[in-house]
Amino acid sequence: MNYGAIGVTIGHEITHGFDDEGSQYDKDGKLRMWWQPEDWVRFREKGQCIIDQYGNFTDELAGMKLNGINTQGENVADNGGLKESYRSLGNVLSRSPLLMIIPTFLNCFIGSSSSLGMAMSAEMGQFL
Ligand SMILES: [Zn+2]
Repeated sequence: MNYGAIGVTIGHEITHGFDDEGSQYDKDGKLRMWWQPEDWVRFREKGQCIIDQYGNFTDELAGMKLNGINTQGENVADNGGLKESYRSLGNVLSRSPLLMIIPTFLNCFIGSSSSLGMAMSAEMGQFL
């Protein structure tokens, strides 16, 4: 399982069900307010954090700031997907710590583009 690619992608799509648009649909797919009022207020506050964070990113080439409101759903899904995938990886590794060694070992021999693999390859190259 590649948690950095497919894990994040699956998590991204699942999180869309809880972004600024998906959150407005109930379990049956009907557009209706199903949140407790205090939960909805908290959800909106957290959404504003995402809007503010991404609204401060500047595309240097275009010389423009990102519109955090327009991209909120995708930004929430990206953050959620990464978090869910990372949590899943941590869950698997906590049950099978030996799995941590195998990818690192393989990266050294197959020339993976991972930073660890590249660092190990560069270090090994000094001795050749
Ligand atoms: Zn998306």
